[in-house]
Amino acid sequence: MSKRDYYETLGVSKGADAAEIKKAYRRKAKELHPDRNADNPDAEAQFKEANEAYEVLKDAEKKAAYDRFGHAAFEGGMGGGGGGPRGGHGDFASAFSDVFDDLFGDMMGGRGGGGRNRAQRGNDLRYNLRVKLEDAYAGMQKTITVPTAVSCGSCNGTGAEGGSEPQTCPTCSGMGKVRAQQGFFTVERTCPTCNGAGQIVKNPCKVCHGHGRVEKEKSLSVNIPAGVETGTRIRLAGEGEAGMRGGPSGDLYIFIEVQDHQIFERDGVNLYCRVPVSIASAALGGEIEVPTIDGGRSRVRIPEGSQSGRQMRLRGKGMPALRGAGTGDMFIELAVETPVKLTARQKEILKEFDTLSEENNPHGSSFFSSVKSFWDSMKG
Ligand SMILES: [Zn+2]
Ligand SMILES: [Zn+2]
Repeated sequence: MSKRDYYETLGVSKGADAAEIKKAYRRKAKELHPDRNADNPDAEAQFKEANEAYEVLKDAEKKAAYDRFGHAAFEGGMGGGGGGPRGGHGDFASAFSDVFDDLFGDMMGGRGGGGRNRAQRGNDLRYNLRVKLEDAYAGMQKTITVPTAVSCGSCNGTGAEGGSEPQTCPTCSGMGKVRAQQGFFTVERTCPTCNGAGQIVKNPCKVCHGHGRVEKEKSLSVNIPAGVETGTRIRLAGEGEAGMRGGPSGDLYIFIEVQDHQIFERDGVNLYCRVPVSIASAALGGEIEVPTIDGGRSRVRIPEGSQSGRQMRLRGKGMPALRGAGTGDMFIELAVETPVKLTARQKEILKEFDTLSEENNPHGSSFFSSVKSFWDSMKG
């Protein structure tokens, strides 16, 4: 059986640098995680292969030897680069747990590292805030109440009653994780006794039950800047959950959702407003009064003979851009209305008007001449 190319095994090109190789290897290792491969009997073999490839390619000397001699570099005493790759012959389970030390270290953040680093950063919190369009226009100060975990005042966040010291967890000897055999694999799990903290509190604080944190509602005054949009995030550093055992607090993220407005429609920094006008106003022209987002009003002149859908721009009457980067415009769109519930007298006037209207419908006459030439062409 011929051996697969190491680069191909990891799914990288020959020119890949150390960072790309490492990334590709991690991706493979995650793919081959036993939790995801309960019914894939090839996972172990594939993992061994990836591990062997990585052992060689991560080492500059071995990689150089492999690039030059291929697999022969590590076979039958040729010794191209200082010893064979360990993964090929070594104990599979131990190789696997090495990967997981690496991966878990990343995933658990400050909690890894064999329990030496016991402080844990608090969680980030998300707070959804709905604001009115006019508040997004002007900006606002808003007081919000956030349920959060804060450091316990009774034990100063240690979780231990009356100044007693936390002790090393007997289950994991302070490692914060335990190893378990699962089929072929040795997997590491967070220690169930100490939940990964590496230490336990013998005499837990009565207020926080040894957690070092208590639930509390916190009031915060938040500055919502002018120009926010749906999806804008405002980060309040350190206002998230308190850390565990003296770790730093997480952050609070305020996610903005701007509510739809009954009059204005927003597109970025521009506002659109549909204004109904009568047939007579559209035909004769005139002036209308329109609302503006600041609560004021503007007068807009309708030109004689305006069609439905005609837009007029009011410069600078739109929304401000975030961080003072200019202001958008407001567009008035005319919606010409067909009158309804006509009296007999109105109908009479309108009929009379219609008999006098020959050249007064610009779209109508060009539409009907197009229709005529279409029919003519269909006749062949
Ligand atoms: Zn433990
Ligand atoms: Zn406490």
